[in-house]
Amino acid sequence: MISLQDETTGADSTQQLLHERNYVFLLIANRLDVASDEDLDLINDAYDYAKANGYPFFCVTSSPEKYIAQWRDRTGAEYPFLLADEVVLKTIIRSNPGLVLLHNGTVINKWNHANIPDLSEQKKSLDKLPIGVMHEDNQLKTIAQCVGWFFIPLIVLLWLDILVVKRKFRKREKFNINPLIYNKMRKNIVAGNWKMNKTLQEGIDLVKDLNAVLADAKPNCDVVICTPFIHLASVTPIVDKKIGVGAENCADKEKGAFTGEVSAAMVASTGAKYVILGHSERRAYYHETSEMLKTKVELALANGLTPIFCVGEKLDEREAGKQDEVVGSQLKDALFDLSVEDFSKLIIAYEPVWAIGTGKTATGEQAEDVHAFIRKTIADKYGKEVANNTSILYGGSCKPSNAKELFAKPDIDGGLIGGAALKAEDFKGIIDAFN
Ligand code: PEP
Repeated sequence: MISLQDETTGADSTQQLLHERNYVFLLIANRLDVASDEDLDLINDAYDYAKANGYPFFCVTSSPEKYIAQWRDRTGAEYPFLLADEVVLKTIIRSNPGLVLLHNGTVINKWNHANIPDLSEQKKSLDKLPIGVMHEDNQLKTIAQCVGWFFIPLIVLLWLDILVVKRKFRKREKFNINPLIYNKMRKNIVAGNWKMNKTLQEGIDLVKDLNAVLADAKPNCDVVICTPFIHLASVTPIVDKKIGVGAENCADKEKGAFTGEVSAAMVASTGAKYVILGHSERRAYYHETSEMLKTKVELALANGLTPIFCVGEKLDEREAGKQDEVVGSQLKDALFDLSVEDFSKLIIAYEPVWAIGTGKTATGEQAEDVHAFIRKTIADKYGKEVANNTSILYGGSCKPSNAKELFAKPDIDGGLIGGAALKAEDFKGIIDAFN
C-alpha cells in the first residue's frame, strides 16, 4: 500500500492522487542522488506536456530534502515532489527514474528511464499525442496477450476435451456401455475357477481353446483362469499373454511336513499370479476358518500373489436377511488387520453360497446391494479411495446370458466363474459382456 506525502507541507496526498479522475504523471525516482539523468530532456518534455494539458505531474522519491534540492539544481525540475517508502517504490518500477502514468487512480502505463516517450512540443495536440495511443496500445496489447497466452490455449484444450468426451460417448453408444462401468478407475475382471475338473491334458486343451477364441479379441477386462495345482506349471508357458493364471487355494503354512499341501511360494514358482482364497467350498468341506484364511492371505501377498478373496452367505442366512452381517464378518475377521497397502492388492469376490453351481443366480439388485455394502465396509475401514479402487467380482451361476445385466451394476466389477469357465466359448461370452 503506497502512502504519498507532500515534500514541503508533509500532508498526505495519497487519496487526492488516487481519486484524480484524470491522467497523472509520476516520475518515480526512489533515490535521486543516484538517479540517471540521461533522459532529462524527455522527462522535462513530459512535464511540459502534462502542464500544458492540465495533467498533474509529480516526482515521487524516498530521498531526503538535500537530494531533492540537488536534483532540482541539476535538472531544473519545476514539478512538485512527494515522499514515499523506497521499498514500495521499487515494487512499482525498478528503474531509477521511471515514468508512470495513472488514469482514474490506476496505473495504465510505465516506462523505464531508457524508453521514456517523446512528448515534445510538436506532438502536443491532444488527439495526436501518444497519451491516448499509449492507453489504447496498452489495452490492445493486454487484450492481445490475454488472447495469445490464455484464450487460445484454453480454446485448444476445450476442443481436445470435447473430442475425447465425444469419442467416449460414441464408444458407449456403439457398445451400449454403462457409463458407470466405463468411467471407473478399478479393474474389471473375469476370472475362471476350474475347481476339481479337467485332467492335465484336458486342461491344456482348454487353454489352447481359450487362446484361440481370444486370439483376435480385445477384452475390456482382465482375464484370469484359476486351475488345479497340477495344471499350473504346464499352463503358464502356453497361455495367451492376455490371460493371467492363478491357483484355487494355497496352504496356510510356509513350508515343511504338511503332506499333500501346496504353499504360496510353490504356486508363485509356476508363474501363477493369482490365488483364490476362502472359496465357500473350502470353507464348507475343508473347514477353513477366518484365522486360517488370514494366514493364507498374508502368505499369498508375501509371495507376490494376488488373492481373490471369496465371501458369501448361505441360503438360511440369506433367508434370515443376514447376508450383510455374514459378509461383513468374513471381511473383517480375515482381512481387516492388513495394512492399507496390502489390502489394496486384493480382489474380493462375493459369491452367495446358494447361487454357486445351483443354476440359481442372484438378481442384479440382490448382488448390487451386497457389493455396495462390501464397498462401504471397505471404505469405513480403509477409506473411500481404497474402496473405489477395489475390484469386487460376483460369483454364482454367472453365464453369458446374465453377465451383462450383472456387470452393468455400478459396484459389480466382473465375475468369478465356475461351470461356465470350463468351455472356452462360454467363458468368452462372459468376457464379451464388458464390450
Ligand atoms: C464358483 O465356484 O466360484 C462359481 C461361481 O461357480 P458357478 O459359476 O458354477 O456357480
